[in-house]
Amino acid sequence: MPNSVLEVIVPHAEGRVVMVDSGQQIRITNLNGQQIADTWVFCRDDVGEYHSAEHTRVQVSSLLPRVGQDFVTNNRRSILRFDSDSCHGAHDMLIAACDPTRYELLGAAPGHRSCQENLRDAMAIAGHPRVDVPQPINLFMNTPVLPDGTVQWLTPAAQPGDSVTFTCLLDVYLVVSACPQDMVSIQAPGAILITVGV
Ligand SMILES: [Zn+2]
Repeated sequence: MPNSVLEVIVPHAEGRVVMVDSGQQIRITNLNGQQIADTWVFCRDDVGEYHSAEHTRVQVSSLLPRVGQDFVTNNRRSILRFDSDSCHGAHDMLIAACDPTRYELLGAAPGHRSCQENLRDAMAIAGHPRVDVPQPINLFMNTPVLPDGTVQWLTPAAQPGDSVTFTCLLDVYLVVSACPQDMVSIQAPGAILITVGV
């Protein structure tokens, strides 16, 4: 079967959903190097099954994503394989997606966009308006855990054009939100490119 390439731009502060089949590879590119990309993966045949960070941490004995690992679902099935990473490992799998309450607490004006609402809007477009909001894979988010257990809030280590690639191991919806966070100094606004079928 021919493998056509699909490219989708995720503008800063917005979210997008793409369908990816089992066996297809995807690349997520950080166009300015400083934009965090909250990423979720849901099974297409049952969106109640999705990538689960807490189950993945058990599976791989690591707090943070690493090349070569599988990400697993809340049913402990492999859903995604981490194939390559041109920025060598500064990603997060611990910090919750930003949401309207987070921005309210930070003093933002009402209606501030959030990754949580970007996820819900994207999945509503896919026909699933009431999905759970799991812990995202926060690509390019540079928040290492120190030996005393505290989390450092650093800016992304990525350079413009840095990318990560994954192979999907199930038929999925992949959602990426180019995080709107502008109340905490951990990123600079840019766009994210999703490429399916690389
Ligand atoms: Zn966010």
